Amino acid sequence: HAKNKGKQTYQVFNTEMKSDSLQRLTLENDLRRALSHNELMLYYQPQMDIETGDIVGFEALIRWLHPVRGLVPPNEFIPYAEESGLIVPIGEWVMQEACRQNKQWQDEGFLFVPVSVNLSTRQFLQHNLRDQVSEVLQRTGLAASYLELEITESSTMDVDFAIGVLLELKALGVKISIDDFGTGYSSLSYLKRFPIDKLKIDQSFVRDIMTDPNDAAIVASIISMTRHMNLRVIAEGVETEDQLVFLRNNHCNEIQGYWFSPPVSTFKVEELMLRIKQVAAHQDEESGE
Ligand code: C2E
Ligand code: MG
Ligand code: MG
Ligand code: MG
Repeated sequence: HAKNKGKQTYQVFNTEMKSDSLQRLTLENDLRRALSHNELMLYYQPQMDIETGDIVGFEALIRWLHPVRGLVPPNEFIPYAEESGLIVPIGEWVMQEACRQNKQWQDEGFLFVPVSVNLSTRQFLQHNLRDQVSEVLQRTGLAASYLELEITESSTMDVDFAIGVLLELKALGVKISIDDFGTGYSSLSYLKRFPIDKLKIDQSFVRDIMTDPNDAAIVASIISMTRHMNLRVIAEGVETEDQLVFLRNNHCNEIQGYWFSPPVSTFKVEELMLRIKQVAAHQDEESGE
């Protein structure tokens, strides 16, 4: 009986696999075209200092402007890009474009805050990552301190290797943050050995801090631990004023989330920065400066 059942299960699985791999192949070809035809673009989500209310950074988040499907979010193609290895050229493009844009904004006087770029594990494990980063900085003329690389806990499974890579990157002058913190398996005893600058608390913990005492305790503990380790800490996925107040009361440094702003186009970033400047100029006028 069990065997029979197993066989049936296998057949169903097999049929699904076929259409799945076909889909994967189509998507892969589509993605290759996306890269060569400039269909990829970056959105930017501001990060706000809780105490001052200032924008202190922007995270670059990839979008795919597909000719038929419209704007495709990363969760629908990054996993395939990772599987196929296309994440490597795509990731290189992201880093180049994010740095180029940040430098341009600085040259135009729009903004002087760092840009964060997500690094997939496959990129992190590349032997020439340090050189890639260094070349992008040279090509774009961006100062290293304006680039922050976001890695996930899964990139740090081989602890000694990860520390080596991170030290190389830090020597260039870029900043490092751990993204989606709390969802992986990194051990706290290793965390203190990593030369990093910031922890990003995963949004799955932040979502229910007002209703779930366990989540509230987890978030409060991560913040407290991070501060004791002299790292900065940012909460992801902050959507409500209540969450903001909770995080402020617990001395979280920064927030990122829909409450402040969703990820937006470059056009919207420029609009936002101009508006902030006008408000500041107006305030200067009023205070008689
Ligand atoms: P992530 O790096 O953790 O980025 C944060 C995600 O949370 C973004 O989704 C953002 O739009 C979303 N988010 C921000 N604020 C809120 C909020 O208040 N509520 C909710 N529900 N969501 C919020 P997005 O842009 O769809 O990106 C999803 C993931 O795709 C990213 O998660 C990152 O892991 C990956 N990704 C995005 N761009 C890149 C990239 O250039 N390279 C790589 N390797 N991965 C990327
Ligand atoms: Mg991220
Ligand atoms: Mg995250
Ligand atoms: Mg994520």
